[in-house]
Amino acid sequence: MPDNPLHRVLCIDLTNQQYRVEEKPHLFEESVGGTGIAIRLLEEECPPGIDPLRPENPIVFAVGPLTGLFPLASKTVAMFKSPLTGNLGESHAGGRSAVSLRLAGYGAVVIKGASESPVYLSIHDDKVYFRDASALWGMTNSHTIGRVIREREPGSGTRTIMRIGRAGEQLVRYASVITETYRHFGRLGLGAVFGSKKLKAIVISGNRSLIVANPKQYRKTYDEIFQAAVNSSVMQKYHQVGTAENIEPLNAVGGLPTMNIKESRFDGAKAISGEQMAQQYLGRRIACAHCPIACIHIAALREPYEQDPYFYKTSMISYDYEPIYAMGSMLGVSDSRGLLKLLDDADRLGVDVMSAGVVLAWATEALEKGLIKLEDLAGAELKWGDHQAYRRALKMIVEQPNDLYRALARGVEYASSQYGGADFALALGGNEMPGYHTGPAAYAGFLMGSRHSHLDSAGYSIDLKSKNQQSASKIADALIAEETWRQILSSAVVCFFARGVYTQERIARAFDVAGCDVRSETLLQIGGETLRRKYSFKLREGFSPKKLRIPQRILETPSASGIISESLLRETVSQMNQKLTSL
Ligand code: SF4
Repeated sequence: MPDNPLHRVLCIDLTNQQYRVEEKPHLFEESVGGTGIAIRLLEEECPPGIDPLRPENPIVFAVGPLTGLFPLASKTVAMFKSPLTGNLGESHAGGRSAVSLRLAGYGAVVIKGASESPVYLSIHDDKVYFRDASALWGMTNSHTIGRVIREREPGSGTRTIMRIGRAGEQLVRYASVITETYRHFGRLGLGAVFGSKKLKAIVISGNRSLIVANPKQYRKTYDEIFQAAVNSSVMQKYHQVGTAENIEPLNAVGGLPTMNIKESRFDGAKAISGEQMAQQYLGRRIACAHCPIACIHIAALREPYEQDPYFYKTSMISYDYEPIYAMGSMLGVSDSRGLLKLLDDADRLGVDVMSAGVVLAWATEALEKGLIKLEDLAGAELKWGDHQAYRRALKMIVEQPNDLYRALARGVEYASSQYGGADFALALGGNEMPGYHTGPAAYAGFLMGSRHSHLDSAGYSIDLKSKNQQSASKIADALIAEETWRQILSSAVVCFFARGVYTQERIARAFDVAGCDVRSETLLQIGGETLRRKYSFKLREGFSPKKLRIPQRILETPSASGIISESLLRETVSQMNQKLTSL
């Protein structure tokens, strides 16, 4: 074994069913790990201009120096070229994925090529097996895939099972990859890239131990971070009600996207609030590996079987703020049981619930306006609040029986380019929007963030903290500063919920104990370099700030900060572009 197993990159070729390990100490040292190493590997491995669904598009998974050593360092970064936006694809997931990868002895995995027939990869420490997955291909329930693979891959060690559902097989451009049942690489279509490679699943089990040079210092630093996490009131909120606690406050300030943002307040918000969901359904809370917080809220939905009204089945369904927004307020669904069934369907089929909700909302309005026809919806008569119609349509988006559903499976940017209705097609930078109609900072972040996500720079927080709309320059500076720092968190790789726990000073000390030679003063420089590379990759692949489409709808419906000015938004985008290109 080398000095530092984190520096090992496992390279897998699905076409020839071969693998090898490369040592990349310099790349890890200059980038730290996680998102920092992932973008460097993507630059190396992804041919410019490649179709994201071609075999040459690589999938990169990466972890960081804190993985497996410190609390909440639980995320794996996935990077690829996105089939939804056509540029950078990046998604993070927890579960046991990160710890398993690290304990298997790798800092990153790169998967290229495509198999002729369905396979799943089985990585057990130094050995990689290419297993036939023909019997799993076509199964309609991603949970069943996990159960079957669990039976077929016994063994010791920490194990993760990442898999796609039917949506990934069908190349739905916003298909997800599910890990440990309740965690997802949700955004930007990693599931479709798996599907294009005929890759049904990846099992990783790791048996190694991690060694630290100074155990005493490690224990001290670990305890400090652990105590800071468990005593934090913010983390308690994540544990108790979870992110779903945000439904009512966002509704109160007029920032909750409702019925495709025809409104920004939802009459049914209370019925689907985190507090109500917890009171009626909370069955358990679970945690990613190595996390003392357990923010993952699982509803127990008890329903009678049709044949026997006294015999019940119980479905365990995870919920969070974003899924509740996307399938709840965005679709006018206030029936909490119907909402949970929609979330369960999205999980079983393996679609990104945020994109799916926005797509269904666009289709509902397009039907109202006569841009699409009822017969094209093949029996799913979409109406605000009608969860049964939405469940039918969701299944057909995956199966794609006709041109309309094939267009919906490519996202609202594409569907509106074919059928009209771009004014109310709520994708920013090609990615369907998250649940924050809070003001210009949120939207500037969605438009210009590397992932077109609220996770890039949390612009909603800037909107909600500032009493008046700020200048373009101030918004641009604040968004870029936040996104720069987040490159360090996601290179470490720690959960963003712990961003208040992992201060710059604590990260530097944790790196020191973990054997990562980075001084506190250079952290922001490294973060800036990672952000610069990600933005360059986007530009290389055709992203153009000048061509960004701003849906009219977000400028018409008052946000939590009032009416959003298009000129302010465009000026912020322009300033962000200038700042990002001069990093
Ligand atoms: S806070 Fe939640 S998402 Fe973050 S590591 Fe813990 S359980 Fe996972």
